This record gives sequence, C-alpha cells and structure tokens, in this order.
Amino acid sequence: MTDTYEVVVVGGGAAGLSAALVLGRARRSVLVIDGGEPRNAPAAHMQGYLTRDGMSPAEFLAVGREEIARYGVELVRDLAVDVARDADGEFDVTLGGGRRVHGRRLVVATGLADELPAVPGVAERFGRDVLHCPYCHGWEVRDQAFGVLATTPMGVHQALMVSQWSKDVTLFLHTVAEEELTDDDLRRLAAAGVAVVPGEVAGLDVVEDRLTAVRLADGTAHERSVLFVAPRPVPRTGLLEQLGADLQETPFGSYAAVDPTGLTSVPGVWAAGNAIGFGEQVVNAASGGYRAGATINGELLFADLDAAVRV
Ligand SMILES: Cc1cc2nc3c(=O)[nH]c(=O)nc-3n(C[C@H](O)[C@H](O)[C@H](O)COP(=O)(O)OP(=O)(O)OC[C@H]3O[C@@H](n4cnc5c(N)ncnc54)[C@H](O)[C@@H]3O)c2cc1C
Repeated sequence: MTDTYEVVVVGGGAAGLSAALVLGRARRSVLVIDGGEPRNAPAAHMQGYLTRDGMSPAEFLAVGREEIARYGVELVRDLAVDVARDADGEFDVTLGGGRRVHGRRLVVATGLADELPAVPGVAERFGRDVLHCPYCHGWEVRDQAFGVLATTPMGVHQALMVSQWSKDVTLFLHTVAEEELTDDDLRRLAAAGVAVVPGEVAGLDVVEDRLTAVRLADGTAHERSVLFVAPRPVPRTGLLEQLGADLQETPFGSYAAVDPTGLTSVPGVWAAGNAIGFGEQVVNAASGGYRAGATINGELLFADLDAAVRV
C-alpha cells in the first residue's frame, strides 16, 4: 500500500523542517523522511542563528520537530532510497525500510557529508577543537593558538580568514608543496603574521581530552589548541540524480541547480539547504526551506484551480 501526501520532504534538518512547517501551516498533508544525521551533529553549539545563537543543534531540531507536529506534519526516521517521477509528474518514493509513499511535490533537503582529512585524531575531535568554519566556532576559540591543516593551496585562504579571530596562526603545509604558494600568498601570510610550517602532519597530541599539539611526521610537535581543517564536502544529490536534475559544479562539489525559489530543473522538485550549496548555514537553510514550502503551496493551489476550471 502506498500513502499519498501533497508534499514529501526528504531530509529533516533546518531546510526540510522549515519547508514542512510552512506547508503544514498552509494545511497541506506533508511527510518528512529523515535519516537523522544533520551535518552539525558533532558540534555542541550552533552559532549565528539570530535568537538561537549557542543553542545545541539537537535541541534546535527537537524544537523544530515539535513545531511541525502541531500542524499534523508526519515525520518518519528512515532514508529515502529510491525516487521516480510518474506519468502525471508526481513522485513515488521508496524508504529503506520498504515503505512506499507518493507525493505530488518533492523537497530534497538532504544536506551534505563532510569527508575529513585522513590524519589520525581529526575525525574524533571534529566539531570540538578540530574545526572547519570560523563563523561557526571562531568566537569561542578566539585568541587561542590556531593551526591550519592545508590539504590544498586553499589552506592559505583558510589561514588568512581565521587570522581575524587569533593573531597566533600556524599554517601546516602537510600535503601542499611550498612551491604551490604564490608570491601573493606569501605576502598576505606575512602581513597577517601567519607562520608557515612545511612537512606532513602525522597526528595530534591530546592531553585530558584537549588538543595540545600538532605532530609532524619528523616527530616535531607544535603546540596548538585548535586545528582548522577543510573537509571535502560530499553533497547528498543521489535522489536528484535519479530524477535527472541538473547539478551545477562549484569548487566545493556539485549541487542542485535551482531558481530563486529552490525549484530544480525537474518540475515539481524543490531543493534547499546544503543540497543547493556548500555555504548554506543553518539560517540560510531554514530560509531556503521556507521559501520552497511557500512556493509549493501557491503552485499546488493554482494547479488545482486551473484543473478545476478546465473540467
Ligand atoms: C561541525 C559543524 C559545525 C557547524 N556549526 C554551525 C553553526 O554554528 N552555525 C551554522 O549556521 N551552521 C553550522 N554548521 C553548518 C550546518 O550544519 C549546516 O548549515 C546545516 O546543517 C544545513 O542544514 P540542511 O537542512 O541543509 O542539512 P542537514 O542539517 O545536514 O540535514 C539534512 C538531513 O537530511 C537527512 N538525509 C540525508 N539524506 C537522506 C535521505 N536519502 N533520506 C532521508 N533523510 C536524509 C540527514 O540525515 C539529515 O538529518 C556546522 C557544520 C559542521 C560540520
């Protein structure tokens, strides 16, 4: 048996829950399918969301789930594993547990996964004292001894950015050769007071559950209490690809190509949050979900009115 909803939302992070909230309040029948792995789960605090600055990511989503439930939105903890567009331009979605649901419209808010550099200790400490985003964590670690792990020449940019939060920054070149740094890079690093250390990073020294040093392959240890890294973003675009949606390439991966409302190249399919771009922070993801939800409601309304006129 297949349950039918007006809108199926895949992904229950800030983007998906926001879309569901607007749609539920517009009296639409909505199912949210959520795998329960929001990107910021490793962090204890969520910063920069006006009125919610410092709230725990888990609490933020729990409140969001309570809010959508008030309007009759259903949420199921599962993965959408398969999707197909039928002859009427509507969607059949298969869940990992085997359930099949039907949606007249679809929101893809599946976010992205961060692939961390394969340095021992980095994954264990990610979101604590191994960080990627100064806007998310910079204030909390300001003025501490920062390291930046370069895995591409873009590490220079990250080192320059984080120098806004501490004047004690060391750039570890790790897998980047010194010759890959341009004269402009060297001039800017010098102007920002960033020290540059060549050589591969082999691991992290941790004492009483705190990062104390970055250790190079040659055995030397550099005292640092924070290490910035650049995870490789892996957008979760599998469902969009199944539907044949256009993706647009960026230096940070390929994301859904959307119009300003979040509509993808496939009629009836909207996308929001990190599914449409690397830089979508929580507040942007929520905003994009809201815009998609409101647009879908209007689009369904007029589609039904036009169909009634035609009859
Ligand atoms: C360590 C860390 C700290 C961060 N701190 C901040 C911060 O302080 N402030 C800030 O604004 N941003 C922060 N961010 C960025 C923030 O995580 C993202 O902006 C935000 O999570 C994007 O929301 P989203 O709804 O697009 O995706 P997500 O929150 O990642 O939610 C996507 C959801 O979709 C689910 N999903 C994926 N595929 C499927 C599928 N096939 N079927 C069903 N469900 C699926 C996932 O399980 C997940 O629950 C941080 C990121 C990291 C990594």
